[in-house]
Order: sequence, then C-alpha cells, then structure tokens
Amino acid sequence: MNQQVRVRFAPSPTGPLHIGGVRTALYNYLFARKYGGKFILRIEDTDQNRYVPDAEEYILETLKWLSILPDEGPEKGGPFSPYRQSDRKARYPNYAKKLLDEGKAYYAFDTQDELEEMRKRLNESGIIMPQYNAITRTQMKNSLTLPPEEVQDRLNSGEPYVIRLKVPRGKEIRFQDEIRDWVLVSSDTIDDKIIIKSDGMPTYHLANVVDDHEMGITHVIRGEEWLPSAPLHVLMYEFFGWTSSRPRFAHLPLILKPEGVGKLSKRDGDKHGFPVFPIAWTDPFTGEKSKGFRESGYQPEALINFLALLGWNPGTEQELFNIEGLIKLFSLKRVNKSGAKFDIEKAKWINHQFLKDAPTAVLSEQLVQDLKNAGISADKTQVGHVADAFRERITFLNELFVQSKYFFIRPAEYDEKVISNKWTPEAVNVIQTFGSRIEEESGNFDRERAKKLLNEIFEEKNTGAGTVMQALRVAVTGVSGGIDLMLTLEILGPDEVAERIRIAINKLSEQVKK
Ligand code: GLU
Repeated sequence: MNQQVRVRFAPSPTGPLHIGGVRTALYNYLFARKYGGKFILRIEDTDQNRYVPDAEEYILETLKWLSILPDEGPEKGGPFSPYRQSDRKARYPNYAKKLLDEGKAYYAFDTQDELEEMRKRLNESGIIMPQYNAITRTQMKNSLTLPPEEVQDRLNSGEPYVIRLKVPRGKEIRFQDEIRDWVLVSSDTIDDKIIIKSDGMPTYHLANVVDDHEMGITHVIRGEEWLPSAPLHVLMYEFFGWTSSRPRFAHLPLILKPEGVGKLSKRDGDKHGFPVFPIAWTDPFTGEKSKGFRESGYQPEALINFLALLGWNPGTEQELFNIEGLIKLFSLKRVNKSGAKFDIEKAKWINHQFLKDAPTAVLSEQLVQDLKNAGISADKTQVGHVADAFRERITFLNELFVQSKYFFIRPAEYDEKVISNKWTPEAVNVIQTFGSRIEEESGNFDRERAKKLLNEIFEEKNTGAGTVMQALRVAVTGVSGGIDLMLTLEILGPDEVAERIRIAINKLSEQVKK
C-alpha cells in the first residue's frame, strides 16, 4: 500500500458495545498495525435522542482492557481533533451548504403530519415502502417545489426545516467492497436522505462521510449492517467531488446466533448464559446489569483470539494466536463473506489454552486476590505452586480459588463416602506413621520423597497403596478429588501435612471402620 493506512472505529455511544463492535475495532486495529498505519477512534454522537450516558466511557474502558489502543481519538487527541462529532458540529453545515449551492441538496419544510399523510396516500395506492424521493419530492413542501421567495421567508422566520440530499433517478451506483467485491445498486432504491436535522445537527450519513474525508480515512472497515448505507455514501463522495480520495469499503460479516440463523443478540446471551458484551454494563435508565466477558473470567488475549477467528481465518489449521501473530497474518482477503456462528465453547477452549500457558504471575495475582477476599493470607511462593498445579484444569481464572481452596483452608469436613469405606485401622496406622515420619524430614521434602516414604511404610506394614491413598488424600484435603496426591503433599509441605494428619485422626477417631 503506497498511501499510509488510516482506519477508524466509529461507534455511536448508544449503549454498551456489542461483541460485534469489539470485533470491528479489533479488525481495524489489526489492519492498521499490519500496514504501519493509524488506528483512529471517533465517537459518533450526533443522534442526541439515542445518546446514553456512560457509553463512551464504556467504549474507552473496553479498548483499554483489550489493549486495542487508538493512535488518535478523544482521549489521545491527534492532528484532526476533536474526535467526538458533537464537538465537531460547527463544521457540518458548511458541507451541507456546499451541496445546497450546487443543487445537490435542498431544504424541506414538511411537518410530521404531512409526511405521514404522504406515506398513507402512497400505501393506499399500493406502495408498501413509500419514500421521499425524486418522484414524491415534487408533491412535497421543499425548496424544489416552493418559489424561492417563499423558501427565503420560511428560513427567515425560523420555520423548522431539514436538508435532504437530492438523489438522482436511474443512476447506477457501484463500488468494489474489499470483502464482497462489486456492489451495484440503482439510485432508485435510495431515498432523499436527511443530512441536516431540524435541530441543526447532521445525520450519521453526513457526519460520517465528512469526517472520514477530513480525517484522511483510507479504509472503512465496519459491520455488514452498514452495507445498505454504503451506496448512499459513495454517492455523497461523488457529490462532494471526493471520489478519487474516497476510502475503500470492507463490510464485515454478521455474527450469528449459536444456532447459525439470525443475528446474535443480547437475548441469546441471556438464554444460553453467555456474555455478549466485553465488560459489565449497567443500564443507566433501567438499572439492569449485564455481565461482560471480563467479569465472566475471560482473558483479554483470549477474547481477542476468539474474535479474530469470528469472521476471519488464517488459511491454516492454526487456532491460537497472540496479537503479534494476528497482526502478521491478518488480511481483509481472508475475512469471510458469510456470517460467523457464535460458539461460546470455542471461546472457553481458547481461554483455557491461554490460562494453561499464562505466566504464573497472572494466575497468582487472581488467586491472591480471591484469597484476600476470603480473608486468607497465604505464602506467595506456595500460591505460585498451587497456581501452576491447577493451570491445566481451569477454564476461567476464578476457578483457581474454588478448586484449590483446600490448600489454604484446613478441612472442616471429610468426604463421607471415602471415610466410611476406607478409613480402616490399617489405613489409619499407615497414615499416622507417615505423619510422624515426615515430621522428621529435613528441608528437602518433595513428591519423590513422599512417595518413597510411603512405599517404605507399605513394605514395613505389608500393605499397599490401594487401601491407603484415598484415605490419605481425604485426611489432608477433606475431598476425594484433586491434583496428583504426591504433588499435593509437596505443596502443602511436611509440617502442614503432619498437622492435618493429626487433626484428621483426632476428629475421625470415632469412625474408624472395624
Ligand atoms: N456510528 C456507526 C456505528 O455506530 C459507525 C458506522 C461506520 O463505521 O461507518 O456503528
């Protein structure tokens, strides 16, 4: 690419970012990084009716959590500041004026009732989707039908008006989408879109096209739901005389429900119990709380990996990528045209893979926090060992504490089934001997040493592992399952094992199976 790539993520702060929005941000980011370009964040908040407080902050926090950081944006600033459309609103009327002057846009004064009447009339004559267009505009109240003096009078008297684009009839609009290839649309399917609303604010279409142009955007990478708007945008670039510098378009495939039909929605998440938002969200109007991937225990790297594969493929069987790997391999050519089925099991699997290979510090940090929340203080080295011992077994970080609790809390109860079947005088005898022998151990007690000691005792007492191991496990942990028993003993350390054995023998003395 001989021009510096400049892409933007342009969310509207109308609520929490849907996971599809996060994917759009990610693909833009990967594309910018791959080509040494710039990734820009622009907040599209021209629709004051749909503005939701906290939504912008939510977007920024999400991008920070995922480390998809913009090179230019509302926080960072940049050569095209400001990056929030409400802060840019003074610029848009001049562009609308240019189109008005050139006869490519016009004023319209129709009231809601008049518009309603027109729709009704057309409905009655069999037109299902009435449009304000090249045909119907001739019967409406606008600067194309009213005498110029009347138009001026209306404007002078402060009568509300909108500015509409004068979409020509019978024109073929075509553009080559980076993902979908050629798109051909007749201008007859496009209505005379409002570009300036009666409150003086631009609509999405005008602000979006003007900003992409002003900010030197080279590629517009966005969700498929914007594909129907693209021909209108192409036409607007033409009207403004910006065709040669028009960005290229790439419309990303839809994210589909797990069943594979229809667009993924928040309701699907509620139904199946998985998040569809990146981070937790509390609706400022209803107070309704939704969990995010972050709060559900997903690692940011894992979510990135998962989203990267939701609509793109590397062309090989490889499924695990870090961000550098993604940057290297990403290309719009490998973005699929068809919708991507949302598969939460895949997300879980990826998360598990990341935790399996995560640095010990990442795992320990969470475990220390969970221990602290439970009022337990623990030795840092031991926490690290426990974390490493459990990394293969967890899908989410918070499972570490749940699964490994018994390392930090001495048993209050003992697995009844094991005790009633295995807590025999013979087993107690071996366990007690083991307890007193390990107390005499010097510093180098480990799993090998534990095994050796036990074998020696088995030999002395002429018994075997089969009759003792389960009882020993329950005596020191309280539970019947868990990681390798010898490793458990090693991590607990000889003193703690001996103490736990003493307590168990004491507590269970009544229950020795005769
Ligand atoms: N503001 C639009 C949105 O909310 C942006 C669409 C575009 O990227 O052009 O998704």
